[in-house]
Formats: sequence, structure tokens, C-alpha cells
Amino acid sequence: MFDSLQDRLQSAFKGLRGKGKLSDADIDAVAREIRVALLDADVAVPVVREFISNVKERARGAEVSQALNPAQQVIKIVNDELVRILGGETRRIRFAKNPPTVIMLAGLQGAGKTTLAGKLGRWLKEQGHSPMLVAADLQRPNAVTQLKVVGDQAGVTVFAPEAGNVGAVQQSSGTQSIGDPVRVARDAIAEAKRTLHDVVVIDTAGRLAIDAELMKQAADIREATQPDEVLFVIDAMIGQDAVGTAEAFLEGVDFTGVVLSKLDGDARGGAALSVRSVTGRPIMFASTGEKLDEFDVFHPDRMASRILD
Ligand code: GDP
Repeated sequence: MFDSLQDRLQSAFKGLRGKGKLSDADIDAVAREIRVALLDADVAVPVVREFISNVKERARGAEVSQALNPAQQVIKIVNDELVRILGGETRRIRFAKNPPTVIMLAGLQGAGKTTLAGKLGRWLKEQGHSPMLVAADLQRPNAVTQLKVVGDQAGVTVFAPEAGNVGAVQQSSGTQSIGDPVRVARDAIAEAKRTLHDVVVIDTAGRLAIDAELMKQAADIREATQPDEVLFVIDAMIGQDAVGTAEAFLEGVDFTGVVLSKLDGDARGGAALSVRSVTGRPIMFASTGEKLDEFDVFHPDRMASRILD
């Protein structure tokens, strides 16, 4: 995903090779190239501004070092700044003291929530948990089936409303839903307590674009279930829209962490790199493919190294 950014940064650093102490003009020149590389990769403008200002300040203040030549020093500073905008520390799931831990997924339709539910289920099981996936995306009947499929693949229990058991629910927009997602989510938590599942992952409905009803539904589920984590899933391929979408979900639902999906794509991806800085919420997981094992805990330092390698 970050191939172009990677190339551009490498070429910016190339100009510093063989230099002794860097002059202000050298620093300005490399900072300018880094700035353009970040902007071209779709990193959000305010994030770039702060990034460049920090790089310049630290490069000017850098001591002459025995261990690192000036080019290496600048690379280290850029690395540190990348780690900083990506959140610094790895942030892990906070499990509830009294199970079940409730993890709610939110995001636009197509962001990768249902796939993520399967991935999380598989991962949690590997960590020794007993997860239950909950089909609270009742907007599309297919979503329930899709969750059952990924649940099966992951070998994880799926809680879904029975087909014959729910009536269609008329919504204010006139659209129909095959049940009440708030009720399903509540029932699922009660069922998880009864059946000793210690983590409940709630898949919620998305729309293709931000809309008030979607936000309200997600906020209602949040209110009713008091999740320990609300993970906002963002498709890294949507480019600059990622930042606006994240801000809208922050305001409409609020979330405790971000999952970057589709990092295997060839889009520019810089907007996804901005989401942490713009929302203040940590990136917790990254998805890199459709398969259930193409997923991992997000480590800011490893991502920074990957971009700079
Ligand atoms: P939802 O509408 O948010 O539940 O999104 P889905 O989980 O249905 O995912 C939408 C599409 O994206 C599906 O075709 C998934 O297979 C695909 N998908 C999900 N995550 C990834 C990923 O990390 N990489 C790629 N390449 N595709 C993904």
C-alpha cells in the first residue's frame, strides 16, 4: 500500500548522502520533499504540517553524532515522527473484569466489518478466549448469512435472530430491517453470559455513505450494550474520505479504537495513517486481505519501519 510513499521518502533521503553536518538549507530541502511525499500519499494536511515542523526542529537541533551520519539521523527522526502519528505504543484490547467483554464494530458498508468479525473471532479463539459473534447488521439479510459463513470458517459461535422469529421493522426512513438490532445485541449478551462466552463481537449495519439513521442505530446499540471497545473499521482504500468518515463516526457514535482494513490494496493510504492523529483514537488492528488470517495487531513501530524500509 505504501510503495509510492516509500520510494518518495527514499529519494528524499538520497540527497543527504555523503553530507557532513546539515545546513539549514539542506534541512529545508529534505523537509520540502518529505512534505510533498506525505501530501501525495494523502496524509491529511494538518498532520503533515506538524510532522514537518517537528522534523525540521529536531534536525536543526541534532547533535553531530559518531554513530549516525546526517542522512541516518534524518531517517531516524522521520521514523520517530511516523511512530508518533501512528500512536506510539501498541494499544491492546481492554478486556472487561466481569465477562463478557463486549466489542462493537462500526463503519461504512463495505469497510470490512463482517470480515473483521470473523478475523477477530479466530484471533480471540487463538488467544484462549471463547468468543461469540453477533449479527446485529439486520439491514441486509445477506449480512447475517455472511457472518454465519465467517463464523463457521473461524469455528466460532454466531448469535443471529432466527429467520422465522423476527418481524420486519419499519424504520423512519421507510426502509425495512429484519429485526431490532438493539434487541438482538442485548439478547446476545444475555446468551453469552448463560453459555459462558467471554467475548461478544457485535457486527453492526453500515451504509454506503454517512447517514443520520445509521449513526443513530449504532449509537443506540452502543448505549444499550455499553461496549468495552467500539472499533471503527475504515477501508484504507477510500483515500482522503477516510478522515471525514472517521470524524463523522467519532461525533455520531464515538469509538475507542480504529481498525485499518484493506491495507493490501494499492491505493495511497496516507489518509488512514492520519486517522489516529485526527481522531486521537488508537489504531488497534490492521487487515491485509480477505482471508481470516490476514489480520494482526497494529504496531506503530513496525508500520513505520515498513514504510521506511
Ligand atoms: P462490511 O460491509 O463492513 O461488513 O464489509 P465486508 O466484511 O462485507 O467486506 C467488504 C468486502 O471487502 C468483502 O468482499 C471482503 O472480502 C473485502 N475485505 C474485507 N477486508 C479486506 C482486506 O483487508 N483486504 C481486502 N483486499 N479485502 C477485504
